[in-house]
Amino acid sequence: MKETFDIVIVGSGASGAAAAWRLSRDQSFRILCLEQGHLSDPSKYPSTRPDWEISRGSDYSSNPSVRNNPADYPIDDSNSPISIANYNGFGGSTILYSGHFPRMHPSDFRTFSLDGVGQDWPISYADLKPFFELNENMMGVAGLVGDPANPEYHSLLPPVPLGKMGRRVAEGFNSMGWHWWPSYVAINTRQHGNRGSCINLGPCNTGCAQGAKGSVDVTYWPIAMRQGVEVRTNSRVLKVTLDLQGKAKGVIYADLEGTLYEIYARVVVVACSGVGTPRLLLNSRSAEYPDGLGNQSGLLGRNLMLHPLAYVEAVFDQDLQSSIGPHGASLLSQQFYETNLDNDFVRGYTMQVLRGAPAAETANTGFFMRQIPLGENHHQKFHQTFNRTAGIAVISEDLPELGNRIELDSENLDSSGMPGIKVHYKLSDNTRNMLKHGIESSKQVLQAAGGKVTTSFAPVKHTGWHLMGTACMGDNPEKSVVNKHCQVHGIPNLFVVDSSVFVTSGAVNPVATAQAVTLWACDFISQHKNLQLL
Ligand SMILES: Cc1cc2nc3c(=O)[nH]c(=O)nc-3n(C[C@H](O)[C@H](O)[C@H](O)COP(=O)(O)OP(=O)(O)OC[C@H]3O[C@@H](n4cnc5c(N)ncnc54)[C@H](O)[C@@H]3O)c2cc1C
Ligand code: SF4
Repeated sequence: MKETFDIVIVGSGASGAAAAWRLSRDQSFRILCLEQGHLSDPSKYPSTRPDWEISRGSDYSSNPSVRNNPADYPIDDSNSPISIANYNGFGGSTILYSGHFPRMHPSDFRTFSLDGVGQDWPISYADLKPFFELNENMMGVAGLVGDPANPEYHSLLPPVPLGKMGRRVAEGFNSMGWHWWPSYVAINTRQHGNRGSCINLGPCNTGCAQGAKGSVDVTYWPIAMRQGVEVRTNSRVLKVTLDLQGKAKGVIYADLEGTLYEIYARVVVVACSGVGTPRLLLNSRSAEYPDGLGNQSGLLGRNLMLHPLAYVEAVFDQDLQSSIGPHGASLLSQQFYETNLDNDFVRGYTMQVLRGAPAAETANTGFFMRQIPLGENHHQKFHQTFNRTAGIAVISEDLPELGNRIELDSENLDSSGMPGIKVHYKLSDNTRNMLKHGIESSKQVLQAAGGKVTTSFAPVKHTGWHLMGTACMGDNPEKSVVNKHCQVHGIPNLFVVDSSVFVTSGAVNPVATAQAVTLWACDFISQHKNLQLL
């Protein structure tokens, strides 16, 4: 069966949703979004059940190899110290994400000019500024205006309460004289649009049944669908096709039964994530593009950046109710964000203060770490830990490196017969030194807050959730995959609009910047009322 649309969007996650909303806003384009995963029913999210922690380690795990749904594709990350984390379903990984929403800093777009590392982006913070603001309003972002490390914010929902634990750790930062600020998070702290406020229970990473977390199924999608965008779930795109002139012709997708469909479109927008996007473009190879679409530079799939994470945890002598509240959101510090020539690394990191572990995780981890034995004294030891811990996650800026990459894995096929991927990734010396510094700083601050440090290590294995750089943006087609409007070099009606296009990674969670880039690119597409001109 063949159908024709003006625009086809592949992927319904953070970027695909923002694209669908923007492209349907003021033009009457006929738009189809194809999503390989299924529609979620928030009333069935594990967060509605007392056993949600079990689901977090099984059917709602952020590790696709553990979940192993028909929508998931094989990812062999045995050659990487960090495993890929994602969610393949309507709303993409935002269904599971924590909602951290800090913007990248102006310096992040100029690392080569400033520090001689990475590359400068062909666009600046100033180019993205109106799109950051528009996006934050659409997603509903809480925080506090006036942050000296992020002076550009002008309008936010009230911050998520720090809670007892947050206040205690903030005292630690104060006594060190270090920067801290309430987290920027896409969580409603009051009614925003037609979405209600957070009820502070905590299981944000198994889907927010309350609808307070800004996952795109409850932010962009309801409006995009009202504006006429059609969504087909359980529809896996296998290939982007080309016409005789070398322009994108459309896509071929398979439904759950394996039936193939061909869609014709005047513009194809790919938003399958930092690993799903290069996978699709590599799999779309043809006689003209034997190495994959947009891969004339050889960079498609390369420069994978993952934000290696360090984790430090401390236990306090007092009940701080630390398991209560949105899991990730409390406060952050960007004391060590910018390059300091006294350090043995360039660029920097964010320290993100996390709430304490929930009950089952406390008991389980405590048992394996030999801190909470089973049997005698179990309850006493449990209560000495539960609600008394605070953790700091160190998000390190990851610089682009050619050897860090994904490639197709033709020996491991998904349920539609499409190749999975292999990940090749190593930590650089710069990253190792940065993580070491981050661990020491986090220990100092938790100790200054009165905590006893019990855990510290890096990199944390199951935290490859920030996927960037694999279809990077640039003016020079020999050194990049897309141009500054996110058009694939040489194929002007094919766009990549997700964090694959990041030139460098910054040291913050990527969605705020990724969606701003999506809106920037879709603004450009929308200016071409006659898409034929693209
Ligand atoms: C547990 C967890 C916590 C996180 N916390 C944060 C956080 O606090 N802040 C933050 O900024 N980021 C966070 N992230 C990362 C964030 O969720 C991602 O960066 C973001 O969702 C990426 O957006 P995307 O649109 O590129 O990809 P996704 O949101 O992953 O969406 C891609 C979609 O494309 C679909 N797709 C892929 N290939 C195909 C195909 N061939 N055909 C059809 N459909 C396809 C997938 O099924 C998926 O639904 C977290 C992620 C996880 C897993
Ligand atoms: S803590 Fe708030 S954001 Fe998280 S799942 Fe509960 S209601 Fe949603």
